[in-house]
Amino acid sequence: MMAASTLASINPATGETLGTVPVAGARRVAQAISDVRSVQAHWPQVSLDERVQIARRFARILLARRDDMALTISREAGKPLAEAMLADVLPSLDYARFLATDARALLTPRRRRFRNPLLVGHRSEVQHRPMGVVAAITPWNYPLAIPVAAVLPAIVAGNGVVLKPSEETPLVANQLLSLLHEAGMPEGLVEVVQGAGPAGAAVAGGDVDGILFTGSVPTGQKVAAAASRRLVPCCLELGGKDPAIVLKNANRERVASGILWAAMTNAGQTCASVERAFVPAADHDSLVKAWVEGARQLRLGEGESGAVDMGPVINDAAVKRIIDHVRDAERHGATVVAGGAVRDDLGPRFVEPTVLTNVATDMRCMREETFGPTLPVMAYDAPDDAVAWANDSPFGLTASVWGPGGGRKGIATRDIAARLDAGTVTINDHIYTYGATETPWGGVKASGLGSSHGAAGLLELTRLRHTATAPARGRDAWWYPYDRDVDVVLAKGLPWLYGRRGLRGAALLPALRRRTRPGGPGR
Ligand code: ADP
Repeated sequence: MMAASTLASINPATGETLGTVPVAGARRVAQAISDVRSVQAHWPQVSLDERVQIARRFARILLARRDDMALTISREAGKPLAEAMLADVLPSLDYARFLATDARALLTPRRRRFRNPLLVGHRSEVQHRPMGVVAAITPWNYPLAIPVAAVLPAIVAGNGVVLKPSEETPLVANQLLSLLHEAGMPEGLVEVVQGAGPAGAAVAGGDVDGILFTGSVPTGQKVAAAASRRLVPCCLELGGKDPAIVLKNANRERVASGILWAAMTNAGQTCASVERAFVPAADHDSLVKAWVEGARQLRLGEGESGAVDMGPVINDAAVKRIIDHVRDAERHGATVVAGGAVRDDLGPRFVEPTVLTNVATDMRCMREETFGPTLPVMAYDAPDDAVAWANDSPFGLTASVWGPGGGRKGIATRDIAARLDAGTVTINDHIYTYGATETPWGGVKASGLGSSHGAAGLLELTRLRHTATAPARGRDAWWYPYDRDVDVVLAKGLPWLYGRRGLRGAALLPALRRRTRPGGPGR
């Protein structure tokens, strides 16, 4: 028998192999989907409270094991331990708490009255039913937080999940699965299938009832095509080219450290990192100076080694793409004022924090997602130009404005924020709402479809079912025959119900009553 192929997990800082996992071929993926389906069939009958209990217990166990989990994340994805804790463990705990506090209210069926008096005696209830088996295809940059944001709400909503984590971070996904089992999740409700693109394609094209995908635009398009072939919903969290607009009276210190962090955190490998900064011409030089100093002070090194601000980027292809963007910018007239090279002394995947000036809106570093530790800075004369440049992008994930936030002084800041085309706009900060999981997260334009997080993200994992109940006896006013009573309903009723003049109902009600009287002849 041919040995199943395996996938090696590599530490990007050292090149060391951390472990290997078997790759799931198309048959294994199909089997996993069908196995999850048979377990999921019983899951919605388990009470919502019990399902939420899994999220609560998961949080307790993750909290207890956070150091161990952060270490695996740091080794596999290369990030500093502090970032593994802040940007993977913390949002996962936060998501579990959000579900513990809000899922019951959000998933409870909602009754409402029909407003239309023709429907007197009818009842309406909207239920949030599970989709069934959800495919979650996730990337490596937040190898815990992103899968948790898919798997946890999915199972609380009553679904089963087939998780296809990134081929760069298979071990974190396996560790997540064992924490879920420890938290009491039924065996087989979530299965992890490992592998690269072909495994992802098999999951997306398999017999699933919905797809959650986080990754690049080209792959997102393939996933959307697979979803459309089977007519199942898909939620896509794709890339970004996020702008930060600094206004002239912004707090300089906050801008200097906040935008540096938002551009460089996770070595810039964040879909919502700042990838373009627009600053007032008068403040350009002093801000650039602050960012250059800040970039030079960042300590690069192996994530798990303690006093480190930035780890390596994920792989050689990432190094090439980032350096290509920098060289392309230089060729077209940009100036590299900090960084711009690989720190070979540390290893082949350590890219220096890089600040670029004299950039132009048509350069690759200003149009394509760099997904690396670069901060291109452009000066503007009029804030309207900054808004136009910021919106001139195929992406629309997040955007930020930095200036006075509250009261009268904040009017201009809020006005600019309102004009930005993005799924999330932050004032005087960037990225952080991913960790505030009660709020929605999702992009516009090429940045994606649908939402994760918050009420919208949870309900995205359900299908609505409306159950409407009519009285068991009598007949409705609009049923056959279309006689005088129906004429009265239409002639008087429609203007009464929907016209601007309002009530003229008296003439309508006797006819209505006649027609809805139990057992009445209606004519
Ligand atoms: P990244 O550049 O972040 O790796 P990708 O979009 O390539 O972005 O990958 C995101 C996830 O999508 C990963 O889990 C990857 O294995 C998976 N993937 C890659 N190709 C496909 C595909 N054709 N269909 C479904 N999933 C895929």
